[in-house]
Amino acid sequence: IVLDTEVAIIGAGGAGLAAAVSAHQNGAKVVVVEKMPNVGGNTIISGSAYNAVDEKRQSAMGIEDSIEKHYTQTYEGGDKQGDPALIRVLVENAYPTIEWLESLGMKFKDTVFTVLGGLWPRAHKPVEPLGTGYINTYMNYINQHQDEIKILTETEAKTLIQNTEGRVVGFEAQGKNGKVTVNASKGVIIASGGFGANIAMRDKYNTLWPTLTNIKTTNHKGATGDGIVMAEAINADIIQMENIQLLPMGDPITGSLSGNIEQGVENRIFVNAAGNRFVDEGARRDVMTKALMAQTDAMMWVIVDQHSYPTGDTVNNFNESIDSLVEQGRAYKADTLEDLAKQIGVDPQNLVKAVEAFNASVDSKVDEFGRTLFKDKLDTAPFYAGKRVPTVHHTMGGIKITTETRVVDKNGVVIPGLFAAGEVTGGIHGTNRLGGNALADVNTFGRIAGATAAKGN
Ligand code: ADP
Repeated sequence: IVLDTEVAIIGAGGAGLAAAVSAHQNGAKVVVVEKMPNVGGNTIISGSAYNAVDEKRQSAMGIEDSIEKHYTQTYEGGDKQGDPALIRVLVENAYPTIEWLESLGMKFKDTVFTVLGGLWPRAHKPVEPLGTGYINTYMNYINQHQDEIKILTETEAKTLIQNTEGRVVGFEAQGKNGKVTVNASKGVIIASGGFGANIAMRDKYNTLWPTLTNIKTTNHKGATGDGIVMAEAINADIIQMENIQLLPMGDPITGSLSGNIEQGVENRIFVNAAGNRFVDEGARRDVMTKALMAQTDAMMWVIVDQHSYPTGDTVNNFNESIDSLVEQGRAYKADTLEDLAKQIGVDPQNLVKAVEAFNASVDSKVDEFGRTLFKDKLDTAPFYAGKRVPTVHHTMGGIKITTETRVVDKNGVVIPGLFAAGEVTGGIHGTNRLGGNALADVNTFGRIAGATAAKGN
């Protein structure tokens, strides 16, 4: 079949759906293709934290923050490899994009928090679980405008089509019932996500980690880097592909984030197989993961207490109650630290000492690992422990774009008619992406891509 539209989008995750809504709001007819049976991509299964400097919510909580601080933490947190102009767009538009999402009906909680590796309490949490709030918000809009925005699932984009002047005018895809050609008079937006689930591609580009071959991932299985390959085939510049992010928070069996018992950075510590702390648990994600890899069996225990779970039916970020995790043997519960240590097979004296030293740091704000983010002491039973291992989470490299999301070729020249947004792009986050910056990126740049592509130039 052949479909004629104005803006065509590859991928129906956060960036692609944001782009679809925004392109439509800017007057364009839209077609979105999604290779999986369902929309949502990594966005819908993400932890959902969204960083934005927020005058309203942060000042109500007495939190100091500024666009400048968000900028500096993002830039320095990626070892100054991120593009300053793109970071500027990200930090300045993150909050306006929250307001845009709210205008579309999305609800965020009134409080912000510090997400793992986020370095600062500026993460917004949707009211709906995980990333479903983003996707449901966009899909509600799209369902109300079905005549002008079409989504084709189980349709995998394969090759971009250029006209004789080099302008991208559409793409070929493989649908359930055969070949689909999408012609796009205004432009094509690649929003196909990263390559965290593509082991061969990870291995091809990895230089920062000893090996990634046997490391599991938090990603959905469609995160295979297709858009990067398609764009490179027409000479797009592909940058910083070695910048692959791991989290120290994978489920030991699946690699996913489910079962994670932490509830924000301030109220948990990590201990190794001997029961000793080994890192600043408020540090960058790459720093924590590298430290974890150096521990015996590259595993750790997250330790929390009643402050994180006032009751047994309190849920984690994955809507799993702590009682259910304990019942399933995925978390351990005890009335004393000694008993907890025995259950998880670490030295009780070490664990007790580690917690005592941490509790002293909560008072003194001086910590042997340089930790600065504290709230409550770990001093109230019941205590809980959950096992975690390194897991591949995000790929920071990808297609080079301008601040308007136009794709740039290997000679530094814009490829007309081609746009990219979200995890498929490269060069915003540098070596290490701050926790909470992905959803800010995906929604902000997806929104910009839709508006830019709708202009049709
Ligand atoms: P982002 O956070 O950047 O939006 P996501 O992972 O949330 O990234 O979404 C990317 C979406 O693109 C996923 O739903 C994925 O299945 C889809 N996708 C990946 N490759 C293709 C392709 N070749 N054709 C169509 N859809 C694709």
